[in-house]
Amino acid sequence: MTILVYTENREGRLIKAAFELISYAKEVAQKTNARVVALSIGDVNRDELMKTANYGATRVVTINDEKLSLMDNKRYISVVAEVAEKEQAEIILLPDNTTGKALTPGLSAKLKAGLVSGVASLPQSYDPFIVKKKVYSGKSIANVKILTDRKILTLPSNSFGVIEPESNGEPQIEEFTPDADMESKINLVSMNKVTDKILLSEAEIVVSGGRGMKGPENWGMIEELAGLLNAATACSRPVSDEGWRPHSEHVGQTGKVIAPNLYIACGISGAIQHVAGISSSKCIVAINKDDEAPIFDVADYGIVGDVQKVLPQLTQAIKAIKEA
Ligand SMILES: Cc1cc2nc3c(=O)[nH]c(=O)nc-3n(C[C@H](O)[C@H](O)[C@H](O)COP(=O)(O)OP(=O)(O)OC[C@H]3O[C@@H](n4cnc5c(N)ncnc54)[C@H](O)[C@@H]3O)c2cc1C
Repeated sequence: MTILVYTENREGRLIKAAFELISYAKEVAQKTNARVVALSIGDVNRDELMKTANYGATRVVTINDEKLSLMDNKRYISVVAEVAEKEQAEIILLPDNTTGKALTPGLSAKLKAGLVSGVASLPQSYDPFIVKKKVYSGKSIANVKILTDRKILTLPSNSFGVIEPESNGEPQIEEFTPDADMESKINLVSMNKVTDKILLSEAEIVVSGGRGMKGPENWGMIEELAGLLNAATACSRPVSDEGWRPHSEHVGQTGKVIAPNLYIACGISGAIQHVAGISSSKCIVAINKDDEAPIFDVADYGIVGDVQKVLPQLTQAIKAIKEA
């Protein structure tokens, strides 16, 4: 049996989620006697591809074609499907991020493969194949049985973690040229790249603000704390709807679903739709002036107080620790 892992890269470097997926695949492979094949699309150098072996990949299929430099979902779906057929992959793993969400529905239809997105843990059983996923905005867990021979799973970033890398030698690297038509019908007119920020989907620490921050003029406090902690910034939906922050920062049911090690919620009430996007965080710290705010029901640590007073003090205290 083969487990095919889609390893995404940014500017030629494999993202952390790629190593998490391979780590997950390795655990599944140990239980099912499978081999783990990594698929890389783009200009990723050999040294970077070799790292996949340390997490459990024994083989890498790499496709580096200028025509695929633009993420055109239709082309990517054809190419990933072709590799899955060629490798006779029974399980295909993708990240539960924008890329995974864009590719998996089409891939599932093309390969006639059952799809479970946002898988919460290793499979419960392999025959029948049953996996857990969160449903109803994270309020409940469903055991989902996949009936098709071929299965597609997406894994939320930072939920499974990365295994301790081992030196496993070199993976077999195959440069592959797909038969699929890779000519895109999309013309890229312009692109604004965010380069100086920590990616929210990859961040280990996230400092997030809600309507309790009162206005965009107060976001300096969030940014200062985030800078100090090497954290990404996020926000609740009304904050991005108001235009205080970009939509790319909005977390929750209709925004990004994240699972950082530490989530600091500042002036956020903790509505169910917000919590749906952050409930897998390993530790939640909430600052809210209302001691009955629902965010305290999910928080590991709570500070009851005015963000305008608490945030500067917290920032000062962390600065003092760092300088000590
Ligand atoms: C279909 C649907 C989908 C949705 N999807 C999302 C989603 O993806 N993400 C999301 O976030 N929301 C989503 N929402 C909206 C959600 O229901 C809430 O309205 C929203 O999360 C509330 O945002 P908030 O906590 O920032 O604001 P509020 O609910 O206004 O809460 C502000 C909080 O700040 C506190 N506060 C006020 N002043 C201070 C202060 N000075 N110091 C400290 N605390 C203070 C208040 O006590 C309060 O708890 C969705 C709603 C619907 C219907």
